[in-house]
Amino acid sequence: MTTHLQVLEGDITQFDVDAIVNAANTSLMGGGGVDGAIHRAAGPDLVRECMGLNGCKTGEAKITKGYKLKARHVIHTVGPVWHGGSNGEPELLRSCYANSLRLAAEHGLQSIAFPCISTGVYRFPPDHAAEMAVAAVRGFLSRPSTLETVIFCCFSAPDRERYETLLR
Ligand code: ADP
Repeated sequence: MTTHLQVLEGDITQFDVDAIVNAANTSLMGGGGVDGAIHRAAGPDLVRECMGLNGCKTGEAKITKGYKLKARHVIHTVGPVWHGGSNGEPELLRSCYANSLRLAAEHGLQSIAFPCISTGVYRFPPDHAAEMAVAAVRGFLSRPSTLETVIFCCFSAPDRERYETLLR
């Protein structure tokens, strides 16, 4: 079966998918940017569940319920902070996408939406991040899984155009 890759511009907290991915920090206790938006929309039960997870390492991923979100689950992954690119940042970002997809497939999920991980306060250059994201997703999908739809959720027109060009 072929998996559909889509690019959508919008607020990921409004997406009706099996899982949205959160660009979290290692504490998993919430933060700014997309992390703050997801916690606000999900309600306080999300942070309660996160408290029991013992944090998350950079490049890894953990799954929770979605609570008040339309999305049934949240997959929390921690992107690398950009320090110039020679500290393993590209490989860690690739791991974020691969580990999130692996977790989704292990839970039998069919649809997932990713934000542009690490490209906000973590300063990963957006062109390079989008290339890593698309390569990681295509690599994962080269083998069969439960996933039918993978959405790149862009929060700006330049990000949307970047992904559209890469997927063309
Ligand atoms: P990081 O710390 O991983 O850099 P940020 O939340 O600062 O995470 O930014 C990651 C990306 O998420 C940025 O491209 C930012 O524009 C985007 N973003 C922020 N809020 C939302 C939202 N509600 N929906 C989707 N994307 C968002």
